[in-house]
Amino acid sequence: MAEKSYLDLKKEVWDTHKCSGCGACVAVCPADALSFAEGEMVITPQSTGYCKQATDNVPCGACYDVCPRTGDWPQETLGKYIELLSAKATFEIPHRQSGGAVTAILANALDTGLIDAVVTVTDDPWTLRPSSTVITKSDVLITDAGSRYSWWVPLLAALKEASITRKYTKIAVIGVPCVVQATSRIRSSNNDLLRPFAKSIRLVIGLFCTETFDYAGLINGKLQKKYHISPHEIKKLDVKGKLDILKQDESTISVSLSDLEDTIRPGCKICTDFTSLNADISAGAVGSPAGYTTLIIRSDIGKGFVESAVRNRKIVTDSTIDTAAIEKLASSKIKKNSRK
Ligand SMILES: Cc1cc2nc3c(=O)[nH]c(=O)nc-3n(C[C@H](O)[C@H](O)[C@H](O)COP(=O)(O)OP(=O)(O)OC[C@H]3O[C@@H](n4cnc5c(N)ncnc54)[C@H](O)[C@@H]3O)c2cc1C
Ligand code: SF4
Ligand code: SF4
Repeated sequence: MAEKSYLDLKKEVWDTHKCSGCGACVAVCPADALSFAEGEMVITPQSTGYCKQATDNVPCGACYDVCPRTGDWPQETLGKYIELLSAKATFEIPHRQSGGAVTAILANALDTGLIDAVVTVTDDPWTLRPSSTVITKSDVLITDAGSRYSWWVPLLAALKEASITRKYTKIAVIGVPCVVQATSRIRSSNNDLLRPFAKSIRLVIGLFCTETFDYAGLINGKLQKKYHISPHEIKKLDVKGKLDILKQDESTISVSLSDLEDTIRPGCKICTDFTSLNADISAGAVGSPAGYTTLIIRSDIGKGFVESAVRNRKIVTDSTIDTAAIEKLASSKIKKNSRK
């Protein structure tokens, strides 16, 4: 049977507006033939037209095999887990989003050699322009803490740089649930071309996610043109039922999500995973008191990384968790976005 190619991905995912923009197909294409163009509301990858499978009939199918939008949609709220905790970093992380636990766990892992690289998304503080990045030093990770809510970039693209180009063998991936679903497909795939990626991924940390925004639409369109806020004036963005914008002068502006509806990435409108069900550790704000991160430890690997950070006094934990609050948000995402 012929392997699937990017043409199948195009027909089933790109042309039907199901693409999440996770970027996994871009990362694993051995011909480097897939990319995302820059611009407003770029919602699917593009191809150079060359394809090992379709052009040369050489078995590949890597892009299709990793895509989280070719199979079934997850319909669980909390999913399987070993432990639920609140946690916070014991040291100063100026730009941390919640309790800084994600940064502290990964900084500890880099400093102790448990991992050698982190694949994540950072941004330029002047323009807030996001990029998929490989970080190998804990001080860089600490400087770059905080959540990025808007993009067009393929989020997982830097996995190729980390795994294939720079040959790191102990990689941690941080990502929103669609990215975590793609890494789960990479880890469990029989496709020989995906094995080097699978072997190099040691830990996957998933962030909670309700929706994300188009970078140009949100930052240049809404915030700059309508609200007259330049990206360099923004100290922190936070989404909790509305978009809170903390400015460098410490003033705050809130924008309702209904006003941002036209900047939400279309692929997010069919997404039903809030808690990153396939991660080793999931992390979010809801469920914990202010200043803490909620951690859902789902695997023995995840448990080992959290225990190491506790042992080395990089995080402190608390078992007070509002599970119902997490379930409520997760259920409402499933209800809103489930396919009819
Ligand atoms: C798009 C998005 C939507 C979210 N929505 C919710 C929500 O609705 N409810 C909720 O409770 N929590 C949500 N979160 C999670 C929350 O914002 C925090 O990321 C989480 O609580 C961890 O906080 P922390 O202080 O431990 O992380 P930090 O210590 O600040 O570390 C965060 C790490 O995540 C990385 N990162 C940031 N953005 C991205 C990204 N887009 N892709 C990959 N890596 C990234 C950073 O590089 C950093 O290493 C969302 C996060 C994102 C990115
Ligand atoms: S969902 Fe991810 S893997 Fe699938 S087509 Fe979009 S970017 Fe590629
Ligand atoms: S809402 Fe779903 S598709 Fe959109 S970024 Fe979050 S996890 Fe990905």
